Amino acid sequence: MPRDIDAVILTHAHLDHSGRIPLLYAQGCKAPLFCTAPTADIIFPLLLDSAELQAHDATRRNRRLDRRFRPEFSPLYTSDDVKQCMHFVTRTNFCSKVELGEQIGFRFWDARHIVGAASVEICLGDIRILFSGDLGNGKAITCAGAELTGYDHVICESTYGDRVREPELLAYRRDVLLEHINSSLDAGGNLLIPAFAVERTQSVLEDMVALIECNKLAPVNIFVDTPLGETVTRATLKYRDSGLNPFAHANIHFVESVAQSRQLEHVRGAVIIAGSSMCTGGRIRSHLEHNLEDPASRVLFVGYQVSGTLGAILKSGARHVRISGTDLKVRAQIHTMDSYSCHADRDGLIAWVKARLPISGSVFLTHGEKESMMQFSAALEAHITGTAILEPTLGSCWKLPKANAASLTGSGRADAEALVAQHDWQNDLAAFQGALRSALASLPDDHSRSAMMSRLQDSLVHKRISETD
Ligand SMILES: [Zn+2]
Repeated sequence: MPRDIDAVILTHAHLDHSGRIPLLYAQGCKAPLFCTAPTADIIFPLLLDSAELQAHDATRRNRRLDRRFRPEFSPLYTSDDVKQCMHFVTRTNFCSKVELGEQIGFRFWDARHIVGAASVEICLGDIRILFSGDLGNGKAITCAGAELTGYDHVICESTYGDRVREPELLAYRRDVLLEHINSSLDAGGNLLIPAFAVERTQSVLEDMVALIECNKLAPVNIFVDTPLGETVTRATLKYRDSGLNPFAHANIHFVESVAQSRQLEHVRGAVIIAGSSMCTGGRIRSHLEHNLEDPASRVLFVGYQVSGTLGAILKSGARHVRISGTDLKVRAQIHTMDSYSCHADRDGLIAWVKARLPISGSVFLTHGEKESMMQFSAALEAHITGTAILEPTLGSCWKLPKANAASLTGSGRADAEALVAQHDWQNDLAAFQGALRSALASLPDDHSRSAMMSRLQDSLVHKRISETD
């Protein structure tokens, strides 16, 4: 039960790690919430935004006619819940040991992921466990007087465990970005960049500032249409000053209100950075609505697109999509830059695990889609011998002994696994409707269109009959 929890340890601000914390505290948790100072500064606006989005989403869904006579949607938590849980935040420095009780303690290591991101070393008596959190790239981790090797058990993320990225120089990445900006502006369209408010917006802005300051990028209007992105950018500057300050440039505009955002509908020849990164909500959807049918515009994805999201559908080359009830033909160019990832790739993850050796018990793989986890497991096996590599299912329980492989003590929850695998068929429906509309439009006359619909109708009837046989 939440009220029985003694300590909550948060590795970093990303919502897939922090997003349900207010719910935990709303359900009775009273434990201190340990995180680094940058994480504490970022989660507050992030969780408030999440609560507001949920409230808005619930109101919209409950208003829809097809929700009548069904239970009302309610948000997981409110803004008040967010404010309440922030009282439990305990800012914790990297490398400092925190004693949680008799022979139980932890400390944060720099995970090289986003600002403030940490791995967590947990000591239970003489058993040492290391939880990677999300891992990034960069220099080896050090803390004076401490060893990051010789663990009993290591829990390692595997998000990009199935791919190896070409190491790209920062200057090359910026040149590629410049090419995308210039190509869309030369064509007279806009460049839309769907981006996470945390980390990705800051990285893209830093690159743009660098391009402006070395006179590679001509004066162009850059709209940052994500108030959350602006807040996080200000918070990040406190901790990571790269000397590239987007607030010091007159042609980088931070868009505040929805009314200001709407004014961008008719803008051409600009760069627009907006959330959400996977186009599942937020202001980017309105910009897509006004740009996707324009062959002069382009959409540049700079982040991972989860399968089934509108971002993934666009990235896969869909020619029709439906946004806010409007069917749109995709005429804009769709591009991707993979070089912005703040996650280590397969080789980076392997190097991180090898640097922890010897590991006398087990390595658990988490935080990856099934395929990625399986491929990473196979690749890692070739590099570490004598250590069990385990892929736990959600909800499974394990005993973690000293210097011995972990053993399963309770199975996972099948219902939870099914939820994880759930596919959002609504996006498939939208793609199907778009394709159908296009197929009908391509037929020579109304008679042919009626005939096609009649055949489709027949096949639906046959399907229903065969299901009831
Ligand atoms: Zn993360």
